[in-house]
Amino acid sequence: MHELGITEAILDIVLRHSGGARVRKVQVTVGEWTGYVGDSIELFWQELSRGTVAEAAKLEFRFEPATLRCRACGTVFGANGSGLECPQCGALGGEPAGGQECTVDLIEVEGGDST
Ligand SMILES: [Zn+2]
Repeated sequence: MHELGITEAILDIVLRHSGGARVRKVQVTVGEWTGYVGDSIELFWQELSRGTVAEAAKLEFRFEPATLRCRACGTVFGANGSGLECPQCGALGGEPAGGQECTVDLIEVEGGDST
């Protein structure tokens, strides 16, 4: 249930950027490394956003797959199940290169000109 903290953070960003306008849509990128589940964020969102300008906002999630950067040769590769071996040089492991973050990409408010 660690989505509570991130949901609070997302709501905080959204409310700060809304300028008091009602929020229609919020687009969030969820990195695979974070382990956050969109459905859980949505549940907390319904609770937390109640009574705010964001309470009717629709949440949209974009999933970002986990990638690793090889410590030996710098190649970035997908960390998908089968192993954490660099496809370039065969070194094991690597540093997380992508999919580590949960970020708010887009906030759409009523009266805005974006469609
Ligand atoms: Zn490598």
